[in-house]
Amino acid sequence: MEELLFGTAGTPISSKGNDSMSGIARIHELGLSCMEIEFVRGVKMGERTARRVGGLAKQLGIRLSVHAPYYINLNGDGETLLKSKQRIMNSARIGQICGAGSVVIHAGFLQKGTREAAYQKIEKQLSDIKEQLKTEDVYITLRIETMGRSSQFGSLEDVLEITEVEGVSPCFDFSHLHARAGKNNTHDEFASILARVEEKLGRKGLGDMHIHVSGIEYSDKGEKRHLVLAESDFNYRELVRVFSDFDIKGMVICESPNLESDALLLRREYNGFRCKDGTKTESKGLSYP
Ligand SMILES: [Zn+2]
Repeated sequence: MEELLFGTAGTPISSKGNDSMSGIARIHELGLSCMEIEFVRGVKMGERTARRVGGLAKQLGIRLSVHAPYYINLNGDGETLLKSKQRIMNSARIGQICGAGSVVIHAGFLQKGTREAAYQKIEKQLSDIKEQLKTEDVYITLRIETMGRSSQFGSLEDVLEITEVEGVSPCFDFSHLHARAGKNNTHDEFASILARVEEKLGRKGLGDMHIHVSGIEYSDKGEKRHLVLAESDFNYRELVRVFSDFDIKGMVICESPNLESDALLLRREYNGFRCKDGTKTESKGLSYP
């Protein structure tokens, strides 16, 4: 990707309707550049709608990703595992028709076994899913997200290591990484995360980032809920400064409750650092209509 794009998790609040078509049109009006389609409560979009959504996004130059349903546990058994795999594959199939570049996945829970056992199992399931999708000519990237609780598979190391499965990449939810232990909230900590990404995935990894950001409330158990950035302790200014320092590219999806307001805020702050660096920056959509 050529740039770092900013957008929302689902249709912006100020959209005319709550469907994806209205969402994409509104993203365009706001001067934002991308949107994540939320299949978080199930993949309810049909193929025909997906084609229309993909057509509009292409016409308006809006990049898309999709978020798979929350009810997934690739470390589960029986019916849970079967349904989890189906939910991921359905997200991938419809996502690809939409022209989305990736499907974001909450991989599952560590449960009683060791982290190593969970890793082996999740790795095997993802390989199986990729194999099946390949037979259907579905090549969309599967992205495993960093999660906000230590009971979940999704530490920084988990999502970097799982990229050893071909076609699997990370989704970095920086607010989750912060909520996981209350750390990861300073310039140096953000920089060390990106340095680790570069060490594992190279410049190519930094050039193809998929990121979630929001304000966040947490306890010693981790994530409690998402907040508006200004109402949280999340150090988003330093985060976007580090994005600029490392010259990363890809998509930043804002998951704050006020969606587009914080997406625009993040981009404004980021562009501020780009200007100071003397780097060329886009000028469109800096105001909030
Ligand atoms: Zn997520």
